[in-house]
Amino acid sequence: MELLKQRIMQDGRCYPGGILKVDSFINHQMDPMLMYKIAEEFIRRFKDININKIITIEASGIAPAIMVGYIMQLPVVFVKKKQPKTMENMLSAVVHSFTKDRDYTVCISNNFLTSDDRVLFVDDFLANGNAAMGILDLAKQAGATVAGMGFIIEKAFQNGRKILDEMNIRVESLAIIDSLDNCKIEIRK
Ligand code: 5GP
Repeated sequence: MELLKQRIMQDGRCYPGGILKVDSFINHQMDPMLMYKIAEEFIRRFKDININKIITIEASGIAPAIMVGYIMQLPVVFVKKKQPKTMENMLSAVVHSFTKDRDYTVCISNNFLTSDDRVLFVDDFLANGNAAMGILDLAKQAGATVAGMGFIIEKAFQNGRKILDEMNIRVESLAIIDSLDNCKIEIRK
């Protein structure tokens, strides 16, 4: 997606350890106009799949997911990173955080992810695929089908895409970063 790639080149910042900071338009301050266009692009790319719900993980997946849900007129459910005491029929999975380098338990209510659901997972980044694996784990427990996974930014120098390809998961990434070596952002054309 050309507009997104231009924005990453203009406003993205590189951090040691292969981290791309996009907190001026995705991860902290958000650009709703760009987010809307991101959602339209996800919908265009996934127009052949049949889904009844969007799923994401808090916090940074929520903005693109709600835009997709709004345009498609579908419900959006987000996986929580803290377990609320009041959650009914909780399903949980352990996820390793790439940016924080620690494990945490994520959860979702079985009330909002069931065997009737065919979901599209939307998130900000695909790195090593840990968040995506957590979603697949939760979907399996719920008996739900993950029909596709859409990422705003994929870091192709990490393992996530390979793992998801091996599992035959349909993946679409709107910008693919080939390298952040020497703090230089290289985006795939
Ligand atoms: P994964 O679970 O694929 O290993 O990592 C994806 C998650 O880690 C994303 O949801 C995102 O929050 C975070 N993440 C991974 N790499 C980056 C990065 O380079 N920059 C930012 N801002 N977040 C990242």
